[in-house]
Amino acid sequence: MTAVPAAPACPVCSTPIEQARTGRPARYCGTPCRQAAAPPRPPQRCGRGQRRLLAATPGTLRE
Ligand SMILES: [Zn+2]
Repeated sequence: MTAVPAAPACPVCSTPIEQARTGRPARYCGTPCRQAAAPPRPPQRCGRGQRRLLAATPGTLRE
Protein backbone atom coordinates (compact mmCIF):
# COMPACT_ATOMS: atom_id res chain seq x y z
CA MET A 1 0.00 0.00 0.00
CA THR A 2 1.56 3.16 -1.10
CA ALA A 3 -0.88 5.86 -0.22
CA VAL A 4 1.67 8.59 -0.30
CA PRO A 5 1.23 10.68 -3.39
CA ALA A 6 4.32 11.14 -5.43
CA ALA A 7 6.03 14.41 -4.88
CA PRO A 8 5.62 16.67 -7.85
CA ALA A 9 8.70 17.01 -9.93
CA CYS A 10 9.84 19.87 -12.03
CA PRO A 11 8.87 19.10 -15.63
CA VAL A 12 12.00 20.79 -16.84
CA CYS A 13 14.75 19.24 -14.77
CA SER A 14 12.83 16.57 -12.83
CA THR A 15 13.87 17.95 -9.51
CA PRO A 16 11.39 17.20 -6.75
CA ILE A 17 9.56 20.34 -5.87
CA GLU A 18 9.12 21.39 -2.30
CA GLN A 19 5.61 22.57 -1.89
CA ALA A 20 5.03 25.52 0.30
CA ARG A 21 2.28 25.12 2.81
CA THR A 22 0.74 28.34 1.85
CA GLY A 23 0.23 29.99 -1.43
CA ARG A 24 -0.22 28.40 -4.76
CA PRO A 25 1.59 25.17 -5.42
CA ALA A 26 4.73 25.53 -7.39
CA ARG A 27 4.96 23.77 -10.69
CA TYR A 28 8.64 24.22 -11.22
CA CYS A 29 11.61 23.97 -8.94
CA GLY A 30 12.61 27.51 -9.54
CA THR A 31 12.28 30.59 -11.61
CA PRO A 32 14.79 29.55 -14.29
CA CYS A 33 12.86 26.39 -14.99
CA ARG A 34 9.57 28.20 -14.99
CA GLN A 35 10.90 30.65 -17.49
CA ALA A 36 12.38 27.88 -19.55
CA ALA A 37 9.06 26.11 -19.70
CA ALA A 38 7.01 29.18 -20.30
CA PRO A 39 6.18 29.90 -23.89
CA PRO A 40 7.95 32.91 -25.30
CA ARG A 41 6.00 36.07 -25.11
CA PRO A 42 4.41 37.22 -28.28
CA PRO A 43 5.97 40.37 -29.62
CA GLN A 44 4.23 43.42 -28.38
CA ARG A 45 2.38 45.35 -30.92
CA CYS A 46 2.44 49.04 -31.07
CA GLY A 47 -0.36 50.38 -28.99
CA ARG A 48 -3.01 50.79 -31.59
CA GLY A 49 -6.16 48.95 -30.83
CA GLN A 50 -5.43 48.33 -27.20
CA ARG A 51 -5.73 51.90 -26.19
CA ARG A 52 -9.34 51.84 -27.02
CA LEU A 53 -10.00 49.55 -24.11
CA LEU A 54 -9.06 52.30 -21.75
CA ALA A 55 -10.63 55.05 -23.72
CA ALA A 56 -14.02 56.16 -22.58
CA THR A 57 -16.75 54.64 -24.58
CA PRO A 58 -19.46 57.20 -24.98
CA GLY A 59 -22.87 56.24 -23.80
CA THR A 60 -22.03 53.30 -21.59
CA LEU A 61 -22.02 55.08 -18.29
CA ARG A 62 -25.40 56.59 -18.57
CA GLU A 63 -28.09 55.75 -16.19
ZN1 LIG B 1 13.57 22.54 -12.53
